[in-house]
Amino acid sequence: MQRQIIPIHDDGSGQAISSAKTIYAPAGQAGEYSPLATNPYRGCGHGCAYCYVPKVLRMDRAEFDQGATLRPGYLDSLRREAKRYQAAGLHGQVMLSFTTDPYHPGDTSATRETLQILAEHDLGFCTLTKGGTRALRDLSLFRRDRDAFASTLTSLDDAFSLKWERGAAPPADRLAALKRFHEKGIFTWVSLEPTLDVESSLAIVREAHAYVDLWKIGRANYLPMTGRTDWESYTHRMIELCEQLGVAHYVKKDLQKYLPDGYVNLMRVPQHH
Ligand code: SF4
Repeated sequence: MQRQIIPIHDDGSGQAISSAKTIYAPAGQAGEYSPLATNPYRGCGHGCAYCYVPKVLRMDRAEFDQGATLRPGYLDSLRREAKRYQAAGLHGQVMLSFTTDPYHPGDTSATRETLQILAEHDLGFCTLTKGGTRALRDLSLFRRDRDAFASTLTSLDDAFSLKWERGAAPPADRLAALKRFHEKGIFTWVSLEPTLDVESSLAIVREAHAYVDLWKIGRANYLPMTGRTDWESYTHRMIELCEQLGVAHYVKKDLQKYLPDGYVNLMRVPQHH
């Protein structure tokens, strides 16, 4: 049987205005996560050892890790561009964020304002964060039929997380946030990327599958475990587990060469109820 990889756009509204800079279409691998994104801050206080963002932004890592600051003119620019999207009839889901975390440990009041501006202009939104229950402050802004809440998880173990993500919320706190959003009827998803330890990622799915609507499965690149991990076996074990538990999942491009023949890998599914 032929391998089938079907990219499906949620509702056809994930198009971007090409000249827009603040609400933009992420290129490359980031595009697998969302058709649209925005980054309110520069820097991030989570200090993840595997973070690639300082390199992408050509920013000094120490400065990046010092904490996040609102980008100059960000909210004004967001308002202007949101208006243009609305006028063009584009109302896709905008993800926060690829180059920072919307619930970093500093002042995140601009995140709330960002979500409000997006909603006022009929755009959907999704937050991807390692800030855990810090995000609950904004829970009431999320709409069941438009928005999503997501978290990255690499382990259930606090010590492991402290080693790799020293400033982020502990794993149990991230799970508590996912559970709460789920209880409120908000679509939830988890990014299992980077996969730092295969057994840990499998354990996360076993632990949290009841309140996570979608799993995005990736690998680790340019890290010590990259060369010593059997990614083919990981891909197969993860698919088997997700199928056993009956949970929706997407295998990212890096692992797609290991997909079993005939496997249907849906890149875009609606990330809202
Ligand atoms: S939370 Fe994201 S942006 Fe912030 S340091 Fe970690 S990987 Fe980088």
